[in-house]
Amino acid sequence: MVSKELPFTKTQIEEIIKTYPTPFHIYDEKAIRGNAEDMKRAFSIVNGFKEYFAIKALPNPYILKILAEHGFGADCSSLPELLLAQEAGITGENIMFSSNDTPAEEFKKAKELGAVINLDDISHIEVLEKATGLPDIVCFRYNPGPLKGGNELIGKPEEAKYGFTREQLFEGYEILKKKGVKRFGLHTMVASNELNVDYFVETARILFEVIVEISQKLEVGFEFVNLGGGIGIPYRPEQERVSFDAVAVGVKKAYDETIGKAEIAQPNVYFECGRVITGPYGYLVTEVRHMKHIYKDYVGTDACMANLMRPGIYGAYHHITVLGKENAPLTRKYDVTGSLCENNDKFAVDRMLPEINRGDLLVIHDTGAHGFAMGFNYNGKLRSAELLLRPDGGVFKIRRAETVEDYFTTLDLKGLKSFR
Ligand SMILES: *Cc1c(COP(=O)(O)O)cnc(C)c1O
Repeated sequence: MVSKELPFTKTQIEEIIKTYPTPFHIYDEKAIRGNAEDMKRAFSIVNGFKEYFAIKALPNPYILKILAEHGFGADCSSLPELLLAQEAGITGENIMFSSNDTPAEEFKKAKELGAVINLDDISHIEVLEKATGLPDIVCFRYNPGPLKGGNELIGKPEEAKYGFTREQLFEGYEILKKKGVKRFGLHTMVASNELNVDYFVETARILFEVIVEISQKLEVGFEFVNLGGGIGIPYRPEQERVSFDAVAVGVKKAYDETIGKAEIAQPNVYFECGRVITGPYGYLVTEVRHMKHIYKDYVGTDACMANLMRPGIYGAYHHITVLGKENAPLTRKYDVTGSLCENNDKFAVDRMLPEINRGDLLVIHDTGAHGFAMGFNYNGKLRSAELLLRPDGGVFKIRRAETVEDYFTTLDLKGLKSFR
């Protein structure tokens, strides 16, 4: 039987829910730290490696602070994400600001923090210059278009709204050079939840080749190349994780064969992964509220899409463990649902599981990235708490659950009374 491991027992969870009622996300700090170290170790063979954690995956400053202790920076794409990084003590060039369709105020804040600004479009050079003046270092996001095959989640690069065309890169760096910018970076992000090592190596090679060409043609030096994020995780128990070592070895080889051989500045290699850093180490814990038997058999939980959107919007698979029934035979076929008035509010469809009863505790796996983060308040649903399972087995609340009062905070009810 294929299964997935848990970092806690049923007894531990029963203890935790006495203080923190379900549903909640709980993150395994020890595993997150171990994974961060594993990534750092594997990529230490690559020139100047650094990872900037993509905040959107798990926007919690406690997590950012943990990752910063392992030398990670932060990848931000909005003003609130910049502020989260700042709260976690991540500042200056430890912040990568990779946004798109960016408002001028966000460029201002990024510049004020000394972040590395990554421009999504050639027209933003002027916008940035007007907003704050050009910083010392400027990076462009490259969209390789037809040079790069599509990835299932993100689609074909030439259909994607992001980045500069190849021609625009040459034009853009020429403009920067004329304006006196001395430090340059190049970035791309063309994959999402990709499990194929070759995809990353191939992308890296495309970037390295274009760096050689631009460096030689424009006589500029690149300080870094940011390979983006997109490393996938094994949501299904039969899938295998991407080996950081395999990606690192492939990237190093591509680097040595391109940039390494050219008489140009030798840029550092960065990643800005989110999912692979925290995704597998988060769990949504929920209690079975009702069982319902009509044309199909339904398990109604006390969580819903507001806590985890991925199954509803992408049909994504998230493994489910019924606590205390880990070894029970999978004899029943269920749809596991939430309480939202949308029929796609299902965590699993036609899933084989052990026989489930009211009051059972379910653990939905791999919610440590794009889980809590994608939450919303549609249908008056409230977002859950986020807990951290500490390395000593203790539990620390890193975000409280939303209350009805939170839901009402943006409404002026005094104004409503006198409104006719
Ligand atoms: C989403 C995103 C990332 C992180 O992607 P993961 O799939 O979580 O690794 C990195 N950079 C940019 C610009 C993004 O939009």
